[in-house]
Order: sequence, then structure tokens, then C-alpha cells
Amino acid sequence: MIISARSITKVHQNGGAHVAVLRDVSVDVHPGELVSIMGPSGSGKSTLLQILGGLDRPTAGTVHFAGIDLGALNDRETAAFRRRRIGFVFQFFHLLPRASVLENVLLPLVLDGRGGAQLETEAAELLASLGLGHRIRHEAHRLSGGEMQRVAIARAIIAKPIAILADEPTGNLDSRTGIGVLETLRALVDERRIACVMVTHDRSAAQYGTRLIALRDGRIERDEGLTRAPLTDETLRAA
Ligand code: ADP
Ligand code: MG
Repeated sequence: MIISARSITKVHQNGGAHVAVLRDVSVDVHPGELVSIMGPSGSGKSTLLQILGGLDRPTAGTVHFAGIDLGALNDRETAAFRRRRIGFVFQFFHLLPRASVLENVLLPLVLDGRGGAQLETEAAELLASLGLGHRIRHEAHRLSGGEMQRVAIARAIIAKPIAILADEPTGNLDSRTGIGVLETLRALVDERRIACVMVTHDRSAAQYGTRLIALRDGRIERDEGLTRAPLTDETLRAA
């Protein structure tokens, strides 16, 4: 098991009022799973993803990641754990615009005090495998949206994490470009036997998952396996 979250509750205080954003959410994620999380705006999807990845702490409940109890780590330890074990992908990419594609991908390693020619070669090979071999010296802001998201995915996996957590990874892309990104995530999960948890409000994007969790008002409304959509002509053209 890669992620095991038990009875997660998250309460925000708005002035005097307490607002329960997540209520008794439990979820286990296994290697090779791509879990799509859907739900209306405000249902708690991003909050859950952030708690699963140690970017936020639950009010109650526990998250174990690869057997490590995130609640037992201090902030510095949690940050180090995230850098080494978890890859994050966001709707708006969060690249350093003036840095090169290669520098963006190497950033998690640099922040962890790592670097050197060997890792640069690895990063360049990874970028080439994602169809970005001709872009590695370009400044990130010059890329198209689809290219930026593939750079963000390369950055998310360069440190060989055990899971990718993605919040609306196709939310800022046209559907054809989005399909390429979804195919990339799916292939990484299959080939590396990692886990991916992906928040999306797009039903067709969710179909790239092996499993679908529906959230409503901070509770799991549904949690079911998906049969993988067969590759369509459109998919194959975009790949
Ligand atoms: P989703 O990603 O499903 O749209 P979020 O997890 O972002 O939902 O937010 C869930 C709910 O929690 C929303 O109603 C939002 O307004 C509320 N919320 C999120 N962050 C805070 C905060 N820091 N303080 C108070 N309420 C918050
Ligand atoms: Mg959200």
C-alpha cells in the first residue's frame, strides 16, 4: 500500500464558525492505481489531495505514506519527505518561467542538495522520453501549455517518487492536449508501478483512472473500480 488515509476530518474556522471540509474520509491507494477524484466545486477535493501529500494537516485522522505516519513528522521532515517521495502536478504548472526546462526539472534534486552531470543526463533523457528533447534549453515561459505540463510531470518524477498527486492537471489545457497529459500519467503509473491520485472535474479525464472516488460535501459518496477506456483513434493521434 502506498497511501493509507484513515478517518480524515478537516475543519476550517471562518471567523467564529467551524466549517467541516472533509468528514471521516478513508482511502487506501495501491501501486499501479490511478485514482480519479471527482466532485462539485467546494466538495473538498483539493483539500484531500493536499492532506494526502502532506501539504496540509488534517484536524483528525491519520495519513500513512509508504508506511510513514505523516502526522509524526515535523514541517522540515515533511518537506523532505515530499521532495523525495511524492511528485506534485498542478493546474497552472508552477514552473519557474525564466529558468530553462532542464533547470525546472532538476529543481527538486537541487533543493535536496543533489546535482551533477549524471542527474542532468537522466533529466535530459526523461524529457526526451516525454517528447521534449528539443526543448531542454528553452526558457519555460516559451512553451505551450501542453509542453509546460509535461515539464511539470518530468519535474514531479525526476526524484523517482512512489506517487504523483495531480490537482486538475488538464484543467488549463484543450482536450486534445489534455489527452496527451493523461496518457503520460497513465503510462508512468503502469510502467513504474507508482500510484497517482488525480483530482478532476472532467468526466472523460477521470476515465483514465483505474478507480473513481466521488466526493460530495466532504464525504466519499462513491469509490469504484473503472475498466480502462480502450485507446481511441483520437488518443492514439495525441500520444
Ligand atoms: P474543491 O477542490 O473540491 O473545489 P476545496 O478543497 O478547495 O474544494 O475546498 C473545500 C471547501 O473548503 C470550500 O468550501 C472552501 O471554501 C473551503 N476552504 C478551503 N480552504 C479554506 C480555508 N483556508 N479557510 C476556510 N475555508 C476553506
Ligand atoms: Mg480544487
